[in-house]
Amino acid sequence: MARPKSATDDAVYEVLHEAATPLTAYQVLDQLRPHGVQSPPVVYRALERLEKAGRVHRLEGLNAYFACCGRDHAAGTVFAVCTRCRRVEEWSGDGIDRLLEAEAERSGFAVSGRTVEVRGICATCRGEAAAAGGHAPHGHGREPARGHDHDHDH
Ligand SMILES: [Zn+2]
Ligand SMILES: [Zn+2]
Repeated sequence: MARPKSATDDAVYEVLHEAATPLTAYQVLDQLRPHGVQSPPVVYRALERLEKAGRVHRLEGLNAYFACCGRDHAAGTVFAVCTRCRRVEEWSGDGIDRLLEAEAERSGFAVSGRTVEVRGICATCRGEAAAAGGHAPHGHGREPARGHDHDHDH
């Protein structure tokens, strides 16, 4: 019983849309197994179609996919990845595109695509860290110092 491509695409999109963080193709597959999707190529092809359609984006650094925020960005966006909660924000890439165009023109380079991924800590995670007492590394209060722990308080 072959399912139509569009149904697979929608199912894959739903998984990514529900997920708070980017997922690899295998993580998507795991979630779709109960729904009768068993083969990795089926998921890969669906992800490819969704990516072309602009409904999902691929993070090259993590080799993971996430659902587009839905904002109109015919040009590129910048993906800001929080290294703590792994959520992704999409920023406008307009300024960067202008910069790249100028550089490409200067060097006679024909650009076929670009991905800009920014890594860091998002505002939410920074807020949580501050609420948990500033520089506590894990945000869960202070554990008693142990001999082999690095001490950041010098
Ligand atoms: Zn997007
Ligand atoms: Zn975060």
